[in-house]
Amino acid sequence: MAMSQSPSQGNGKLYIVGTGPGNLEQMTARAVAAIEDSDVVVGNKFYLDMLGPLIDGKEVVESSMGREVERAKKAVELARDRKVSMASGGDAGVYGMASIVLEIIESGGEDVNVEVVPGVTAASSAASLLGSPLSSDFMVISLSDLLTTWAEIEERLEAAFTLGIPVVLYNPRSRRRKNNLAKALAIASKHLPATTPIGVVKNCYRPDEQKKILTLKELREDHSFVDMHSTVVVGGRTTRIWKVGD
Ligand code: SAH
Repeated sequence: MAMSQSPSQGNGKLYIVGTGPGNLEQMTARAVAAIEDSDVVVGNKFYLDMLGPLIDGKEVVESSMGREVERAKKAVELARDRKVSMASGGDAGVYGMASIVLEIIESGGEDVNVEVVPGVTAASSAASLLGSPLSSDFMVISLSDLLTTWAEIEERLEAAFTLGIPVVLYNPRSRRRKNNLAKALAIASKHLPATTPIGVVKNCYRPDEQKKILTLKELREDHSFVDMHSTVVVGGRTTRIWKVGD
């Protein structure tokens, strides 16, 4: 959420790198160059594992999911005098590490040379595997209620589905939040026909990639396929199924 101007002239550098959906070929050339230029790579294990040979021989600082603030502080500290990449899946600025890192730099009054490197976000990766469902205006809403209250999320869903434009749902399901997707689909059903196409893509551009194209009615009946590695694209009023995917 923060914007920054980066005035630092120190020796260190902090790249906040969007590493894309999880396949080296889907990383931007700048993202690869940033990692290559870094002495240290910080990130959660899940994303670091996908960087494979790119991080061989580098100092790696791994941490688990849910320790974002700790990880961001560590990256900022290291970047005072070393070249550091903070790796964050998809685009680091979309529900990723960029805002956390920038806020830590701001609140600590740190003088760090920062570059935010954009990456391919899940909405784009999922859309590319479904055809072209996001070809005009669309919305992105996360169903994670860790940092946003569920009441606010419902308010956003209500507004989005009223517009009848495609809505991309991130964090559609987790072990802790089993019912959020069902609730979101119930809101969608108030505004959209039961035949509205929905694409679910799990693990885009990863070895275990899977996708399903189905209707709103069908997904409401059974969404057990959807997990935390899935992105759900709810079509809008004009979205149509041209060819059913495999
Ligand atoms: N910064 C990331 C999003 C992090 S939020 C980005 O820009 O893509 C985490 C959510 O993103 C997941 O719950 C899932 O909904 C989505 N996501 C991230 N990578 C994905 C992938 N490879 N395939 C499908 N969904 C993905």
